[in-house]
Amino acid sequence: MSYKNYPMVSRVVFGRGSFNQLGDILAPKRLNIKAPFIFLVDDVFKGDPIISSRLPLAYDDQLLYISANNEPKTSQVDALVEKIILSHKDRPSGVIGIGGGTILDLAKAVSIMLTNEGEAKDYQGWDLVKTPAIYHVGIPTISGTGAEVSRTTVLTGPDKKLGINSDFTPFDQVILDPELTVGVPKDQWFYTGMDCYIHCVESLDGTYLNAFSQSYGEKALELCKEIFTQDILSEKEAQDKLMMASWHGGMSIAYSQVGVAHAMSYGLSYLLGTKHGIGNCIVFDHLEEFYPEGVKLFKSMKEKHKIELPQGVCANLHDDEFDIMIDVALGLAPLWENAIGKNWQQVITREKLKNLYQKM
Ligand code: NAD
Ligand code: ZN
Repeated sequence: MSYKNYPMVSRVVFGRGSFNQLGDILAPKRLNIKAPFIFLVDDVFKGDPIISSRLPLAYDDQLLYISANNEPKTSQVDALVEKIILSHKDRPSGVIGIGGGTILDLAKAVSIMLTNEGEAKDYQGWDLVKTPAIYHVGIPTISGTGAEVSRTTVLTGPDKKLGINSDFTPFDQVILDPELTVGVPKDQWFYTGMDCYIHCVESLDGTYLNAFSQSYGEKALELCKEIFTQDILSEKEAQDKLMMASWHGGMSIAYSQVGVAHAMSYGLSYLLGTKHGIGNCIVFDHLEEFYPEGVKLFKSMKEKHKIELPQGVCANLHDDEFDIMIDVALGLAPLWENAIGKNWQQVITREKLKNLYQKM
């Protein structure tokens, strides 16, 4: 048995208003005045002073606003890399991603593809990246995915949805400023927050659990319960704590794995484009059989926050469409093995998954 030698984010700042330190953090990392920093910013912040008037742009730095309406695609990464290369003579000094999981994943992937040949799709998988990425900084503006700490960047390619999992993927620097999350709409706050909650349940109930994952997962779960089941926190405390829950949830799955909800939600996302947070919620709502306690608490949180999940998203699908979703879900063997155990293939049949999808 060989244990994972997991790379972590090497530097992190936490605090309300810490975004103001970005300029000081970047200054020593500038290679020369012709080597720009590339800022990839969620276009929800276009014209919003919380980000746009505070960016420390200098020299040839490039600001690209990017929509988070769709999850990142390998072709989108390739197009961004080409645009950046064509805009500057020198290789950039670094990439700074400011947004949710969508933008953070794009920033990670772009920083890898600026130093590695070929197309992003060539690197979907495990440890295929050969050359270290350029310096990259992640600044989350919504909490839950754990993309700020993870070793992957989840991309949809021409034939699969799979991350670029590599030692070069994690950010060199993260800035955790909970103030940046003030504008998150309530539904989205819940969906992305539940991504964190589901990471905890799937990690803590999984067969891969170990003391490392458990210590982070329990802390993240405790924070999620404080935030989503009680009324004792101020808005600021809740923002601070959700940002830390996301971090710990990400650390927990780093050394274990996610489970049934993620496997099935990848199927929904691949076929229907359902986004990660809401997709996980739609799936998890029907997983009592696998996670009885976790689903019970999920339903009570959903009720408490008056969240109405879409119903019948699979109602009009054809058999071949169910087959596509089932193929994607079953392709994620480690997730099933973590959730069910080594004998998962005897328990999880195509018929069973179809029955579950039909309820969603
Ligand atoms: P997101 O980045 O897709 O953003 C969701 C919505 O919230 C968008 O409309 C965005 O514009 C908006 N938003 C973000 N911050 C805001 C703010 N401060 N104010 C107002 N609106 C704001 O959502 P997400 O749930 O954070 O990320 C989902 C993505 O993360 C998926 O692509 C998924 O595959 C990926 N993901 C990656 C990992 C990983 O380890 N790399 C883990 C989980 C999920
Ligand atoms: Zn997730």
